Amino acid sequence: MFLWRALSGALAVAECLCSHGMNVPLICPVCKNDAESISHVLFECSMASQVWRTARVPALNGRLRNSLEDYIEHLFGIIEAGPLCGNYRQAIPWIIWCIWKQRNEKVYAATDNIVDILIAQALEDVEEWRKLNEEDHQEMMRDCRVRHEVQKWSKPPAGMLKCNVNSSWIHEFQRCGGAWLVRDQFGEVRFHAREIFVPIQNRVAAELRCILWTMLSLYDLHMEMVEIWSDSDSAIQAISFPRDWPTYRSLLDRLHYAQYRFRSCQVKLSSVRANSAVRKISKSVTNEWRYHSYFARGEPTWLHTTIEEDRRS
Ligand SMILES: [Zn+2]
Repeated sequence: MFLWRALSGALAVAECLCSHGMNVPLICPVCKNDAESISHVLFECSMASQVWRTARVPALNGRLRNSLEDYIEHLFGIIEAGPLCGNYRQAIPWIIWCIWKQRNEKVYAATDNIVDILIAQALEDVEEWRKLNEEDHQEMMRDCRVRHEVQKWSKPPAGMLKCNVNSSWIHEFQRCGGAWLVRDQFGEVRFHAREIFVPIQNRVAAELRCILWTMLSLYDLHMEMVEIWSDSDSAIQAISFPRDWPTYRSLLDRLHYAQYRFRSCQVKLSSVRANSAVRKISKSVTNEWRYHSYFARGEPTWLHTTIEEDRRS
């Protein structure tokens, strides 16, 4: 926005004001060496040159007088592939903004700021901007999540079994619950199980341990063509990109080792809604203190309605 205003000549420097018929001195009020055009303020004035030098941005070696467009093009070249480190390159638009602010402070408030501080401010602003963008990104992810939360359960392809899994974690000092429930291509429940785990540091670790327990159980039952569906984004990310999650390395190693023993075992991200049957079983550990593990054929009778709804969807 600032660059656009500068390029369209909308900034109130002496040259612009004079060209609009205002009677102000044309000379630059900062260096008193030259006419105050926008390119003078942002690039040629002693204060601006000092800022660019300190930020180690190479000067534009062009004609004696470069146009504002020449300068901007030069800077865009540096932003895209210049010899500077990334932080400084990204800070260039903020440095321009800082130079403009500094010019105004000098002209209207007779304040001189130290150049290093101006650049540090520009780098901080970039950081701030990055965080805001990160928040936008997270908001977008939240939108995706909302969409993915409304998806219903669906039957697996023929020959494949679908296993929904969930862990219920409250805090690091309390035992957590885990459950899995396997259904076939008709939506019929083959088996389900519930397990109590000793306290574990966080929700992601709890979910990973629960997925590992599920894999070991399914393998023991000779169910070798399975899809395992968890509604934990983080656990799925950790399984897919283990190098980015070094905290869980030992769990992830064991999990991948277990996974490779199957003929086919894919771990997928479920919506919360599609995972609701198994969530009710795992929550019974932490909400109703049902501290006994079990394994059973077929479906739990108290979940008949939920499972019937899934089957019809
Ligand atoms: Zn000047």
